[in-house]
Amino acid sequence: MTYELVDGNALAGIFTELLSRDATMIQAECGACGATAPLATTTVERDEFAVIVRCRGCTHTLLTILNDPAGSRLVIGAVRNLVL
Ligand SMILES: [Zn+2]
Repeated sequence: MTYELVDGNALAGIFTELLSRDATMIQAECGACGATAPLATTTVERDEFAVIVRCRGCTHTLLTILNDPAGSRLVIGAVRNLVL
């Protein structure tokens, strides 16, 4: 098997394409209970500092988006897979 070794600039087109899709339809697999469901069906807690996405099946935090003056951070929680 061969592969090409490049720098992170190779991600630009990939991320642009992935993030331009409807995020609510992304399938998230919970690593805690194994449930797989669209992000639209999760439970979301939000305030001015954070958005916490929880599994509707077991309430574990799948991922968190933190907003602060330095920018936004995506913190991966119990999510095992995101099927884009
Ligand atoms: Zn779960």
